[in-house]
Amino acid sequence: MSQATRVPVLMYHRVGEAHNAWEARYAISPENFAAHMRALAAKGYHALDIDALVDWLEGGEPLPEGAFLVTFDDGFRGVREHALPVLEKLGWPFTVFLVSDLIGGEDVWTKTANPAGVTFPLLDADEIRDMQQRGCRFHSHTRSHASLPKLDDAALADQLRGSREALAGLLGHDARYIAYPYGHLDERVEAATRAAGYRAAFATQPGFNRRDVNRFRIRRIDVFGTDTPAMLTRKIHFGGNDGSLGHALRYYLARLAEHLPGVGR
Ligand SMILES: [Zn+2]
Repeated sequence: MSQATRVPVLMYHRVGEAHNAWEARYAISPENFAAHMRALAAKGYHALDIDALVDWLEGGEPLPEGAFLVTFDDGFRGVREHALPVLEKLGWPFTVFLVSDLIGGEDVWTKTANPAGVTFPLLDADEIRDMQQRGCRFHSHTRSHASLPKLDDAALADQLRGSREALAGLLGHDARYIAYPYGHLDERVEAATRAAGYRAAFATQPGFNRRDVNRFRIRRIDVFGTDTPAMLTRKIHFGGNDGSLGHALRYYLARLAEHLPGVGR
């Protein structure tokens, strides 16, 4: 079996119906999510465990071609209702990044961003423990979904360490990984994340992850609710957020030009 040299990580948010254009970016319908996973399985992709990815980044065992990671930010209840059955059927592990102060609450940080002004329910402790027994991995998305670069040192450390401690109590194991809220980070946030004891952290910069990627800036492909299965397979193939056919064609034409003498120089 050929070995993976670069591993894509997909980032989803809510699984459920979208009611406006803003929500359609962050929410994917249950039917479309199932179609996404079926399309990836049909193309030979298979999801791996988050520990296996980080082991590999740290020089561990090779991963087979087609390995990728499924992640969900925020911990919406719809992930359990709609995504878990699909992923269980495929035998695919996945990871949810939880906002530790808002377990059993709602995504209050989106209230002003969403034109509809509504919020959606997040997983509660019992649901999290049930999902954990069924193969889902839970890690941190801070305490309150704060934009970390805006915080002073003390508040930053509290978001990072506080969520780790709260999740350790809930999960019975250390939260070893974190996804930065909004993908916001800088050098100071990265250093504080390392100092808080995390093993790796997930950003929102798109692209593939090769073994030399900064483990505290693991790249992720942003999957939109409006992405068709064909768009998703193009995104995961090219490692970017643009799943349009035009983008794929431009990529191939550029590659072609590189191989034609005197063209595209
Ligand atoms: Zn988030």
